[in-house]
Amino acid sequence: MNLPIYMDNAATTRTDPRVVEAMLPSFTETYGNPGSRNHAFGWESEKLIDKARAQAASLIGAGPKEIVWTSGATESNNLAIKGAAQMYAKAPAGSEGRGHIITAIIEHKAVLDPCKRLEREGFDVTWLEPGPDGIITAQMVKKAMRDDTILVTIMWANNEVGTINEVPEIGAACRERGIVFHTDATQWVGKMPTDVEKDNIDLLSWSGHKIYGPKGVGALYVRRRRPRVRLQAQMDGGGHERGMRSGTLNVSGIVGFGAACEICEQEMESERERLLALRLKMERELASRMDVVEINGHAERRLPHLTNISFGFVEGESLMMGIKDIACSSGSACTSASLEPSYVLKGLGLGDELAHSSLRLSLGRWTTEEEVDHAIDGIVEAVEHLRRLSPLYDLHKEGIDITTIEWQTH
Ligand code: PMP
Repeated sequence: MNLPIYMDNAATTRTDPRVVEAMLPSFTETYGNPGSRNHAFGWESEKLIDKARAQAASLIGAGPKEIVWTSGATESNNLAIKGAAQMYAKAPAGSEGRGHIITAIIEHKAVLDPCKRLEREGFDVTWLEPGPDGIITAQMVKKAMRDDTILVTIMWANNEVGTINEVPEIGAACRERGIVFHTDATQWVGKMPTDVEKDNIDLLSWSGHKIYGPKGVGALYVRRRRPRVRLQAQMDGGGHERGMRSGTLNVSGIVGFGAACEICEQEMESERERLLALRLKMERELASRMDVVEINGHAERRLPHLTNISFGFVEGESLMMGIKDIACSSGSACTSASLEPSYVLKGLGLGDELAHSSLRLSLGRWTTEEEVDHAIDGIVEAVEHLRRLSPLYDLHKEGIDITTIEWQTH
């Protein structure tokens, strides 16, 4: 077993060597610009792009012409959210009352921030809050809908806790009311079966580096039929990708993205089962070997490979220091530079302290049972060590409810 152990697959994944293999010829052999329509170098590159489009579309039950290449899920989300809001706005830029958008406080920053920008630009945004199980339900979305609602954007699975929202049901409710529905499916696609038809999706974002493909490449599914969805471009230029995303295509990245999608489609089912068994083992053992261990979010409606666990009476940063040979995350990687407790865990109703003492562990294609066993032992050892130093844990063991203590402040 190699140390450190990688358990941060929700932050990014190792590129599958088969994907790298597929990408290599595009650097030095098939290096033409797929936009070059008048010579063989361009045609050969375009063939690679077409193949990747078919591979990506197949993974989500879409048509190849419904795939728009981007630089990652951040860009896909920006294009979907700002592009749809601007296209379907009910009033011109600069005025109030441009339309209503529904999203949730547990979304990734790459959804929250575009929505906040739209709010400043005259759109009205409803920020839904989940219950303690972390789920955004169709009922919540339906209740928030108004006559002027133009866009709903709800993530499929949450990147910090792994909980799964009621996406097909939310999509159905949007379809009924003629509202455009976008889902940030970055943590979902490639891990769980996806069918944009059955699941009633108009716009769907995903990213290469979360599915064992390269970083810096993503895709946006844009529905073309029943109904056709139109977007305002966010990048002006040569009019690539049917005018929706200008810029010379990242051929190597796109080839890798396509290959990664095909492997996921073939191996998803067995991978899911294997990782689910490992995750359940980890949760079961951590919860049975120690007390005051909370698994955050809904117990069953969750991704197979991701868990988020709070360990009472330990401080998150010290715990991370104590498990240096296990690479994981406290909160999300995007916010771990700051010591602020995770806004997602707080959104689930966790207090600052428990939110601070939480780990996100995400397993992946190369995680072994041996690594899981090592991680369990390492975490138990670190938590027990920190609790031995904790006077509050001593009080807890004596049966004193520390929330009822009246501390003397002078
Ligand atoms: N949305 C979600 C749910 C994510 O987990 C991430 C990656 N942290 C992103 C969007 C951003 O993806 P990318 O890194 O491809 O821009």
